[in-house]
Amino acid sequence: MDFSGKTSIVTGASQGIGEAIAVNLAQNGAETILVDIQKQKLDLVARKIENKGGKTFAYEADVTDTAEVTSLIEKLIQNHETIHHLVNNAGITRDNLLMRMKEEEWDSVLAVNLKGVFNFSKALIRHMIKNRYGRIVNISSVVGLTGNPGQTNYSASKAGVLGLTKSLAREVASRGITVNAVAPGFIATAMTESLSEEVQKQFLGVIPVGRFGTPDEVAQAVRFLLSDEASYITGQVININGGMFM
Ligand code: NAP
Repeated sequence: MDFSGKTSIVTGASQGIGEAIAVNLAQNGAETILVDIQKQKLDLVARKIENKGGKTFAYEADVTDTAEVTSLIEKLIQNHETIHHLVNNAGITRDNLLMRMKEEEWDSVLAVNLKGVFNFSKALIRHMIKNRYGRIVNISSVVGLTGNPGQTNYSASKAGVLGLTKSLAREVASRGITVNAVAPGFIATAMTESLSEEVQKQFLGVIPVGRFGTPDEVAQAVRFLLSDEASYITGQVININGGMFM
């Protein structure tokens, strides 16, 4: 899978799964455009990629801000001519039981995890349609399929991502654009590190593979969906969860 000559945007690229995806794509020859809300962390990832010979650019943006995302995409199209890949990865959790959940906890999770995907996809889709080429991969979650107590906001946002993925896939399939999702299970990142040992143990108990996944194991599947080898795959969800949900 050679991505030479391809330009890929990855949101939430300053750590965890987003960083692994960006590093993987750069190692395979893509020019990577890293987007995250904190420029400092992002610059460290950009330097890591450059030190390994990759070509990369870092941009600070809040995925929830429609105006900011729209003007960023306009700038990127001007600077980079063609954007081939979009990976909507930025995501947050604000866990709480529904009866205790604050409106802000609901709104912020839906804004980053679902509206963020809308913002980037909408800002870029005309460009991809004009080019008759595009690959979009959205990062959902196993809990978007199964639900999870304490995560009504998060699982609703991730189920929403799956609906958006399938609907957009149908809208643009005839224009050479594929839209797919991956649904990771328990992946060892900062997002999951914050869970108590007891909760982590409970998760381990229901993962047939017997361990948590790595960010790179998610990145490998994303890379495949972005490749020309996956040209006849659209509107699909790849589960990456060690067998936790089949
Ligand atoms: P992570 O380590 O917390 O990384 C998420 C990144 O998104 C962070 O760099 C974060 O920046 C950035 N971000 C948050 N809000 C943003 C915003 N408004 N605009 C731009 N960037 C923003 O999480 P991760 O574990 O790598 O997760 C990546 C994706 O995979 C998420 O969509 C997550 O829901 C999904 N996922 C993760 C797991 C897992 O087990 N880890 C499982 C299933 C799905 P700051 O840190 O600076 O806020």
